[in-house]
Amino acid sequence: MKKLALHWQILLGMAAGVIFALILTNFSWGSDFISDWIKPFGNIFINALKLIAVPLILASLIKGISDLKDISKLSKMGTRTIATYIITTIIAVSIGLGMVNLINPGGSISQDTREDLLASYEGDASGVQLNAAKQREAGPLQALEDLVPDNIFAAAGDNANMLQVIFFAIFFGIGLILIPEKTAKPVKDFFDGFNEVILKMIDLIMLTAPYGVFALLAALVVESPSADLFAALAMYALTVLLGLAFMIGVYILLVWIFTKNTPSFFINGIAPAQLLAFSTSSSAATLPVTMERVEEHMGVHREVTSFVLPIGATINMDGTSLYQAVAAVFIAQAFGIDLSLGAQIGIIATATLASIGSAAVPGAGMVMLVIVLAQAGIPEAGLALIFAVDRPLDMCRTTVNVTGDAAVSLMVAKSVDKMGEPNVKEWDDGYYEE
Ligand code: ASP
Repeated sequence: MKKLALHWQILLGMAAGVIFALILTNFSWGSDFISDWIKPFGNIFINALKLIAVPLILASLIKGISDLKDISKLSKMGTRTIATYIITTIIAVSIGLGMVNLINPGGSISQDTREDLLASYEGDASGVQLNAAKQREAGPLQALEDLVPDNIFAAAGDNANMLQVIFFAIFFGIGLILIPEKTAKPVKDFFDGFNEVILKMIDLIMLTAPYGVFALLAALVVESPSADLFAALAMYALTVLLGLAFMIGVYILLVWIFTKNTPSFFINGIAPAQLLAFSTSSSAATLPVTMERVEEHMGVHREVTSFVLPIGATINMDGTSLYQAVAAVFIAQAFGIDLSLGAQIGIIATATLASIGSAAVPGAGMVMLVIVLAQAGIPEAGLALIFAVDRPLDMCRTTVNVTGDAAVSLMVAKSVDKMGEPNVKEWDDGYYEE
């Protein structure tokens, strides 16, 4: 028998978890059994995801930044690419924030459910109040001050401060670019290898995902049996999906305005890559197809695609950043935390950074969501809440990530005059000034 694809296994795990819990709650011992013997496996799964977050940021950011070395050579294209990537990401986060505030998917959760929810994450309730209080007391430059750690081991230690780890990684990466090539090479090679090991570890963790979600969903059913929580989760998923659909519309419009290519040209060109992104949940796995489509079916010069698309697959994740914004605010709503305007603006910054730091592999966006939560003072336990619907949302946000990379490569190509007819493979050389 052929092995079932991971996303189907995960969907099955989710369904089985719900059914299992619904059956067991009919017995007097059922709920206790799930809390004592099933839920811990869900917690282990979440712990493993969190465990990987700090090394993941270090490895992927240091590698990403030091790979950007070529930018000095390709300064014109480089600046445009990075600027467009950052602008589209900020647009995406803002759309996400707008949608989640408008729809308020977590608002339908009743006070009772909220209290049950808080009680089920032992100890977190006081943490919620503590964080909320801390947030209110913070001065205007607190976020900036917090960005610079005075001790990297403390920053990466218990209750890691992800933004400080990111700061360190970027700083380290810049240092690495500036030292002589010969000295930098072994360090760079080390982080290349380190990065691959971490990605493999994520693969391995994701293999246990069907069992992890089984446990998480079963625990969710017995601990928060209220219908309003499920309704809220459905609304949350809908909010993310609406935001993502909106973002695709934004790309179509941008491509139309800046490159004069019609929506049908763009969608027909990129559709196969979108489907692959949807089924693999990985921008990295989709990259070869994205490059082929943009190059041969949309007529972008290889010099542009080979530079813009691999960087995009690593740092430009608009779908992921949009999702992170929605998820963070949804969790805050579910826990009854009122996010100030300042906190929401902070989310724009952290979700942008977190999506840049997310690896282009399944589930990475949710791991990096920890940063956004930690920085906004939202309890990380909220991850358990949204995990149930994460995989299908991952498939959709990856589709948007890949579409965004393609849209930006078309715009950059147009701006440096490297756009031709589809299927044109002959190009004149000599664009780059060394
Ligand atoms: N799976 C996404 C990607 O590869 C990243 C994420 O988890 O959001 O683009």
